[in-house]
Amino acid sequence: MSRTVTSIREGLLKKEFSAVEIAREALAFAERENPKTNAYLMLSPERALEAAARVDAKIAAGEDPGRLAGTPVAVKDVILTKGLRTTCASKMLEKFVPPYDATAIERLEAAGGVIIGKTNCDEFAMGSSNENSAFGAVRNPVALDRVPGGSSGGSAAVVAQDTAVVSLGSDTGGSIRQPASFCGVVGVTPTYGRVSRYGLVAFASSLDHIGPFARNVRDAATLLEAIAGRDPMDSTSADAPVPDYAAGLTGDVRGMKIGVPSEYMKHATGETADLVGKGIERLKQLGCEVSEISLPATDYAVAAYYVICTAEASSNLARYDGVRYSYRSPDAKTLNDMYTLSRGEGFGAEVKRRIMLGTYVLSHGYYDAYYLKAQKVRALITRDFTRAFAGVDAIVAPVSPFPAFKIGEKMSDPMEMYLSDIYTITGSLAGIPCMSVPCGNTQDGLPVGMQILCNHFEEQKMFRLADAFERAGS
Ligand code: GLN
Repeated sequence: MSRTVTSIREGLLKKEFSAVEIAREALAFAERENPKTNAYLMLSPERALEAAARVDAKIAAGEDPGRLAGTPVAVKDVILTKGLRTTCASKMLEKFVPPYDATAIERLEAAGGVIIGKTNCDEFAMGSSNENSAFGAVRNPVALDRVPGGSSGGSAAVVAQDTAVVSLGSDTGGSIRQPASFCGVVGVTPTYGRVSRYGLVAFASSLDHIGPFARNVRDAATLLEAIAGRDPMDSTSADAPVPDYAAGLTGDVRGMKIGVPSEYMKHATGETADLVGKGIERLKQLGCEVSEISLPATDYAVAAYYVICTAEASSNLARYDGVRYSYRSPDAKTLNDMYTLSRGEGFGAEVKRRIMLGTYVLSHGYYDAYYLKAQKVRALITRDFTRAFAGVDAIVAPVSPFPAFKIGEKMSDPMEMYLSDIYTITGSLAGIPCMSVPCGNTQDGLPVGMQILCNHFEEQKMFRLADAFERAGS
């Protein structure tokens, strides 16, 4: 299949095929391939065929069918879809059917996108391997005995597997970039506030982002453009104009200043460091000026992140009490039992660990020692980036210290798992745009991504660099 957003739109306009044909083909292929990876939790044929028929009708009427016309899109199951179950890969929301669409969903359908299914992920987006799903782990389509990364593992896997052309994921501390790197696709975490969070199930509200996966930079840029922009339903969404990202992909990055943070290379395994090193050489050949920079607060990022995200999670997840729309234990006889049994049975182990940690760091007497301290570290990390971007256009680094690991390999050691995010967490804490672009494979054929980070709202520059890099590698 290997279609792209651009090729589908062109084919539709030339009447080579219809959007309904593309949707049927994508649904059939996804159904056939999914047992290999478990990347989809659910396909949505009715919704897909309706959306595709709308696109065909627009084309027949001579109207613009939108920039995502007829593109099969998969959506991480933490983003609300009206009338389509949204589970967050949790028993807690196993039966939850949202009464409204997330803004990103409305916008992608308005642009002609065709939602073909909801993807598996770590429960409530908490994890780095997609093994925390209540509905089974996802296997990496590149190497089926390995994890696809997490938490948006399903969204990365479907794009790598070609069972969707593009997909939406969410990123709180690396959940788009790390699985993109592990599966060999492009994954983008936009500036915080660039895309509305309305209808994204909250994990850690000050860190949550919706962003695209694609097989090339242009498609990722086009999808982001369709969903970005101010939304009155999310007061943290930014009132900044959305540039024409695709138009900025000139291929010319001569003279662009690139900083490579010395702190980021030290944990990387040999092959990852080599491949990223070769990527940096490729940037030099394209005419970029590369220099070493320092981001000294990096060492404290993982600790600060796991204080802040667990604190916010413990508060956000208080709403799942068995009273309203979430799971209710059938065994509860008293009100208190209903709360404790419903939460005890509905949440998985990692979610419970985070709620306990978060409740602890927010509790009286510990708030100043942990939560406030972590917020101060967050300010230092942001300051590091602000200083760095005074001298460079973009920062280039690894995405993860290692490529995709074996299923089960890190499950018994949560601390080891948390270290997967060591290079992605800083960008999330600072709220800057960052992305993973494939930069080669290890000798075992495992993909490795290179991370590009830019200053707030400089997605266009980031895409230009990533696109030039991608073209030079092919
Ligand atoms: N792996 C990180 C965590 O477990 C990041 C998750 C995410 O970005 N949603 O919190």
